[in-house]
Amino acid sequence: MQRAQIVVVKLGTSVLTGGTDKLDKAHMVELVRQCSELKKQGHQVVMVSSGAVAAGREQLTKPCGRSVIDKQMLAAIGQGQLIHIWQSLFALFGINVGQMLLTRADLEDRDRYLNARDTLTALLNHDVVPIINENDAVATSEIKVGDNDNLSSLVAILANADKLLLLTDQEGLFTSDPRKDANAQLIEQVSHIDDELRQLAGGSGTSLGTGGMATKLQAADIARRAGVEVVIAKGAGKNVILNCMSEQLPGTRFLKLAAPRDGRKKWLLAGPKSNGQIVIDDGATTAIKRQGASLLAKGIRAAKGEFYRGDLIDLVDLNFQLVARGVVRFNSLEVDKIKGCHSSEIINLLNFDYGAEVIHRDDLVLF
Ligand code: GLU
Repeated sequence: MQRAQIVVVKLGTSVLTGGTDKLDKAHMVELVRQCSELKKQGHQVVMVSSGAVAAGREQLTKPCGRSVIDKQMLAAIGQGQLIHIWQSLFALFGINVGQMLLTRADLEDRDRYLNARDTLTALLNHDVVPIINENDAVATSEIKVGDNDNLSSLVAILANADKLLLLTDQEGLFTSDPRKDANAQLIEQVSHIDDELRQLAGGSGTSLGTGGMATKLQAADIARRAGVEVVIAKGAGKNVILNCMSEQLPGTRFLKLAAPRDGRKKWLLAGPKSNGQIVIDDGATTAIKRQGASLLAKGIRAAKGEFYRGDLIDLVDLNFQLVARGVVRFNSLEVDKIKGCHSSEIINLLNFDYGAEVIHRDDLVLF
């Protein structure tokens, strides 16, 4: 028997409606049957379910627009309906579910993040399937994750998951748009996410992004950095969830990287939004990437944006490529003053000193 795993199953609206304007309950029960099978095999399942807006639209008798407020209202109507359907379908298999509605703000704050993590863990320990969605009815754009692909990667980190299954209306990631190019080939395995792949998934070039591949790739990138294997596969496929656990995976598999051992570093990947940028020179880039070094003032070329001590900021190289993300010990004006200097000069330049590191290695995650 396989090792017991924590599996996050993300179901997009297209999978739940089968491309129609109604939730496809027959398919939903089939997905629940597979989740129950996984649980029988000893695995734990977390579901990230879209479909609140679609369920709301189905309920409403009066026609309704597509503005943000309309969608928030539809989510308020539909979320209750959605969780009721999941609850009754899982009950057919004797499984309890628990609803968690999150926003980015719940993951940004370390205390709230830990609370959410504890609730999720408690649900799993009680053999309950957590069903998670964004709290669309109240989330404004500033506090929203925005799409359930990215939400599911944050949930996978929160749940300390082994696998994230991004189920969608496409077979996986292709070498070109399969709707336009008969020679398009499914990419079965991805071990490295680079600009070329991002372009393929919906950068300026091809149009696979219309299927939501761009956000899936972002989600896959974050999750695999936290040690989670990611699979993109077609949600309508027969036994797709069960097959994703086998050696013969359907769709595209993203190999995981070594997970940071420190829980705080996982939170840095999942939680906060970056508040600014520090541009670093080639020496600092190599030292941080290859030698596990902290960021010292000497390697800094520029500070961009306004940030404060304790904020999360991006470290970018001279080509503005993201190198790492970390919690900064000096504010942006101070960084500007000490950039390029030797650590021993900080005290003279600022009249105080928080130590030699502008970002300590312990507060840094690599990208
Ligand atoms: N949270 C939205 C809903 O439940 C869906 C967002 C998404 O699928 O990315 O309708």
